[in-house]
Amino acid sequence: MSRQFKGSHPILQEFVLRCKNFADLLYDEVLILDRDYNVIMANQALLHNKGWAADEVAGRRCHEVSHGSSEPCQSPNTPCPLVEALASGSRSRVTHIHRDKQGKECFEDIAASPISDENGNVVGIIELMRDITEEVELRKALEQRNADLATLNSIIVAGGKGLTEEKLLTYALDQILENTGMDAGWILLREENSRSLRCIKRLGVSEEFIKAILSLPTDKTLCGLAATKGQVAMVDNLSQDPRVTHPTITHEGLRAFMCVPLRADSKLLGSISVAGRDPASPQASRLQQLVAIGDQLGIIVASVRLNSSLRQYALELEEARRRREQSASVVSHELKGVLSVLSGYTQLLRKRLESQLPQADLGKGLEIINAQTNRLNRLVDDMRDVSAIESGRLTLVKARCDVVGLSRDVIQGQQALTQKHILLLDSSEEHVEGEWDCDRIRQVIDNLVNNAIKYSPNGGEVKVSIERRKDEVLVSVKDQGLGIAQKELRHLFHPYARVHKEIKGLGLGLFICSGIIKSHGGRVWVESQEGKGSTFYFTLPLR
Ligand code: ADP
Repeated sequence: MSRQFKGSHPILQEFVLRCKNFADLLYDEVLILDRDYNVIMANQALLHNKGWAADEVAGRRCHEVSHGSSEPCQSPNTPCPLVEALASGSRSRVTHIHRDKQGKECFEDIAASPISDENGNVVGIIELMRDITEEVELRKALEQRNADLATLNSIIVAGGKGLTEEKLLTYALDQILENTGMDAGWILLREENSRSLRCIKRLGVSEEFIKAILSLPTDKTLCGLAATKGQVAMVDNLSQDPRVTHPTITHEGLRAFMCVPLRADSKLLGSISVAGRDPASPQASRLQQLVAIGDQLGIIVASVRLNSSLRQYALELEEARRRREQSASVVSHELKGVLSVLSGYTQLLRKRLESQLPQADLGKGLEIINAQTNRLNRLVDDMRDVSAIESGRLTLVKARCDVVGLSRDVIQGQQALTQKHILLLDSSEEHVEGEWDCDRIRQVIDNLVNNAIKYSPNGGEVKVSIERRKDEVLVSVKDQGLGIAQKELRHLFHPYARVHKEIKGLGLGLFICSGIIKSHGGRVWVESQEGKGSTFYFTLPLR
């Protein structure tokens, strides 16, 4: 306790004598001042905390003793409680923000009470000060944590609402920017089965900026490294970072920058970047929180993806079930048709034979029976092929085989059946040979050419082109017929898929073609424009 209080008002001297022992017991800092803010007494806690010797403080001004400042506190938003207490004659309490010797912000809770004489005249002030920096920081951290949890919670709730991936991430980025107080942000996602990235959402940055990032290799950008290697980045001034060299990126004028991976367990899905334009440096604690958000958001995105593929799978199952039901009725209808023609003609023939009538037109009936039997055979063959392909039991009998020769044969055979269509072969080579199942490949070409004719009811050109490539041969069958709407293309190679229902068919041919080509290790696809025609392509490996 400083005891240098001589010369001050006798009431103050008496006050000091009475409260000194008690004041020294307190952890709070205590100052007793006269009306001119000169220190009369400081307690042990203050002397210890502020590093004063007991006989150094008396007569000094309060700002000097309490927070080492040579000037009185001048904070327009936090008035001095001493001034207030003197003016009002009653107790005053405020929180002051000071800076310590290292320049760190400190918070001090200050309460000041006037000391009066027996006539009620204020002769001095007693001031109690407590450092509440830790409390304030804790409260701020708790508030921030609360805000983080609220952000995460709102993202989780949004994830449960069945939003699409894009809508969910847009919402999440909005929330993250609000939570971090940053001006700009963007989310990059890894493309499935590829190393490249795409931007699903950007806020507060130009399209050119994102294009510049995406034009660079993923290991040359901080957000690329986060998305592909799981690296976290925090930069004070992005526009001047030596790692950032692209002019469009530096010109965007971003300073504080943080970037974290978007991760579902160990799988990296992409990255989240946030940036600010003012000079405030990002804090490590904010980065940690962003990492936590990236991890949680990644799991939500993965579950949204799983949900949507399950939905898609359920739709496909339903579609397959519908097609199967349809196919059962199509096949039984087809069978009934063939059988009733067969039974009609066999009865007719029997009657003819029994009636001993001239047998001249028996041949016509036999021809029809033969045609229907062939149809029945084809139907049975198709059904057998479908079940072999579906169960992965299609066997191939491979031998040396020339796809140009096969195509020529098919064209000759099919041209004989139509006059409305012109069938052409386009191949720069006389022979393109490989080890394939010749009958099966003929079946594919025959089916595609047959379809080209069948679905070009107004005639036109049907061209089979053959092109030798490095390790494979590409065969295409192009027509100028009805074409196929884009939305139908996805299911075209599924069993029982039918587009032009007005034209007879079972919807099995393309599925069988695709099964045969795939079991040879080739690919099959179609390009088509409704009303203009279609081109079916397949490849076969040459080695
Ligand atoms: P099918 O011809 O017996 O119906 P496919 O499996 O061969 O069975 O063909 C499936 C469907 O694809 C057909 O019903 C038809 O609508 C469409 N399609 C096939 N080839 C063509 C083509 N060249 N042009 C237009 N549509 C076609």
